[in-house]
Amino acid sequence: MLTRPDVAAAPFRAAARIADIGVSEILQIGARAAAMRREGHNVIILGAGEPDFDTPDPVKEAAFRAMRRGETKYTALDGSAAMKEAVREKFRRDNGLDFSTGEISVSAGAKQVIFNAFMATLDPGDEVIVPTPYWTSYADMIRIAGGVPVLVACDAANGFRLTAASLERAITPATRWLMLNSPSNPTGAAYSEADYRPLLDMLLNHPHVWLLADDIYEHIVYDGFRFVTPAALEPAIRDRILTVNGVSKAYAMTGWRIGYGAGPATLIKAMSVVQSQSTSNPSSISQAAAIEALTGSQDYLVERRDSFRIRRDLIVDGLNAIDGIDCPCPQGAFYTFASCAGMLGRTTPQGRKIESDRDFCAYLLTEARVAVVPGSAFGASPFFRISYATSQEELREALTRIAAACAALAV
Ligand code: PMP
Repeated sequence: MLTRPDVAAAPFRAAARIADIGVSEILQIGARAAAMRREGHNVIILGAGEPDFDTPDPVKEAAFRAMRRGETKYTALDGSAAMKEAVREKFRRDNGLDFSTGEISVSAGAKQVIFNAFMATLDPGDEVIVPTPYWTSYADMIRIAGGVPVLVACDAANGFRLTAASLERAITPATRWLMLNSPSNPTGAAYSEADYRPLLDMLLNHPHVWLLADDIYEHIVYDGFRFVTPAALEPAIRDRILTVNGVSKAYAMTGWRIGYGAGPATLIKAMSVVQSQSTSNPSSISQAAAIEALTGSQDYLVERRDSFRIRRDLIVDGLNAIDGIDCPCPQGAFYTFASCAGMLGRTTPQGRKIESDRDFCAYLLTEARVAVVPGSAFGASPFFRISYATSQEELREALTRIAAACAALAV
């Protein structure tokens, strides 16, 4: 056997495009909490953006049937004909939108749809306007694609919604996209027709800017809030809107990895080039399951929404009862985004000063054994995000622990 003892392996070198991009802070906190659990600590994890419900049985059955029928092969690149038909039906039924199959793309989650869109459209230096607080992946996907995220702060006083004035200030000749997410991760804020109108009017004045509407939390809205999507509101700019949605959140199908986008055929075609050279089609079995989710009975959506609303009320009331925490009531999704400004400057029983939302969340994890995510992970401080997609029992216990840990802080 030949040995080359004098030749050392070259050290690993990551590509520049990912060198500054870390693993999401949400996943890191989740990993730390999971490690504490393995060490025997009873940790309540309110970090993950994932419904605790199970995938509905009819959806699972559809997957079994597809496997038995032998639907275990490659499908058309960006979604089978039947899957695209199901997406068409969904847009017609829920949003009053009529898309042709050439205007629809199906991928491994809404995440891949958004990634494909950025990869297909961004050249170095191209800008994407991202209102903050924002789902962290947006900015990192934009960077990987070579673009520049332009973060625009949205005030808690304005319900964390983007205003037309801040949008106008952020638009430059290099702007390619405006990213909007309603209801929002992490704030739960949602845009009504009246909220969207001034933003869409602004886009009418800036024809080089496209709109990516992330509607993944469409079905999780409360108190009679009427969900609307921009493509249905403003036909004049429909030819530059990509509407993104998926089955992960509404149908508790995070692991199946199916999301879809609808928009102009030129864009959809460019996105399919990216998909053709990366993953090819999303799982054939998951597509069969998603067809059932989108076209079968939708009755459980209402039940699940009601259950989420009870949990939301529990968390909002519980947090607001704690001195130093201020929690606005979200209109949708399954997150609260509360201010912990009142905790800053207080001292832990161990003598450490809470100086930031990161310190506060680290304290909650070690002292209360409750994992939540600091607002700084979403570009806004001092806040913290709770995902309340878990049982009422667990939420009550978490609130008791958070209240006790906060009471133990010296002012
Ligand atoms: N958009 C938002 C705002 C999200 O919170 C998520 C999931 N965390 C996604 C998109 C991606 O969903 P998926 O890829 O599971 O469809």
